[in-house]
Amino acid sequence: MNNQYTIATLGSHSALQILKGAHDEGFKTLVIALNKQISFYKRYSFIDEIIGVDAFSKFPEIEEKLKDKKIIVIPHGSFVAYLGMEGNKKMTLPYFGNKRVLDFEFDRVKQGNWLKESGINTPKEFKNIEEVEFPVIIKSFGAAGGKGYFLVNNKQDLIKKIETFKGQQYVIQQYVVGVSLYIHYFYSSLTNKLEIMSMDRRYETNVDALGRLPFNVPPSYVVVGNSPLVLRESMLPEAYSMGEKVVKKSQELIGPKGLFGPFCLETIITPDQKFYVIEISARIVAGTNLFIEGSPYADLLYNEPMSTGRRIAREIKNAIKQNKLDQILD
Ligand code: ATP
Repeated sequence: MNNQYTIATLGSHSALQILKGAHDEGFKTLVIALNKQISFYKRYSFIDEIIGVDAFSKFPEIEEKLKDKKIIVIPHGSFVAYLGMEGNKKMTLPYFGNKRVLDFEFDRVKQGNWLKESGINTPKEFKNIEEVEFPVIIKSFGAAGGKGYFLVNNKQDLIKKIETFKGQQYVIQQYVVGVSLYIHYFYSSLTNKLEIMSMDRRYETNVDALGRLPFNVPPSYVVVGNSPLVLRESMLPEAYSMGEKVVKKSQELIGPKGLFGPFCLETIITPDQKFYVIEISARIVAGTNLFIEGSPYADLLYNEPMSTGRRIAREIKNAIKQNKLDQILD
């Protein structure tokens, strides 16, 4: 029954993981790749079809051609980067996930309120300079990938930095000193269960190299890679509880379907073993690429290699079996 459907995605980010997982679950697979990368994607036997484009922004034209096929699109980080939030919302092909979540994810204020109202621990935010407890990180609203973030440790520098932000929106946030941990969750709206699939920590340059220097250099947060990490088992229940709280709140804020499928909480853990959640990504994150063969956490839940990409395909397969595809597609 699965092989009537084709799982499709853009050729970038976690496409290989998603398509390998789809193939392993018995789906046909399709990648929409940049023309110059077609030969790269041809290397992989689990990809059944490749459609070449000059630019990912041509996706709407491709969509038109695919509309008579039984396609299910799996979004990943590059969808928003290349098609924009509106481009994602306008997509007409069946899309795995709830597009209403995008509004809450990409508006910093809405996302901040969602996390805070979930009852999980988030960094303090300061409205008034007089109240600031240092160090703080100033985040401009337009920043991406940690560019446009500034760390300051005294009032004088804070005032100077804020002057350079004239006309831009920004937030002054408590700088949490600790180890970063990115937790990869999957929430099934078919079983109403949350699963921790894997975890990683990001390697960011230059902040992750500063401990090697005897002098001060301003930090930057440009991601260059991801490495695996396992969490102390005693902290695992809290990791589950945070994910459940965020899902529950999303059902109140965003509507009954709420957040489902893969998502990631970006946390920093302080020496008193407290998690601070700095961001949520409501889709598959690139750190899951470490675990195409599964992870210690996925292994505890499944007796077979289960990546997040494969877990998505498994969910679609289960929905087809139960005649509930409408519940998981937008
Ligand atoms: P992306 O969208 O790629 O996740 P972004 O621009 O939204 O990037 P964040 O993920 O929010 O940026 O933050 C980038 C990095 O900055 C984090 O990985 C972390 O190292 C650091 N950082 C952000 N907020 C804080 C904070 N409150 N305390 C300490 N470090 C922080």
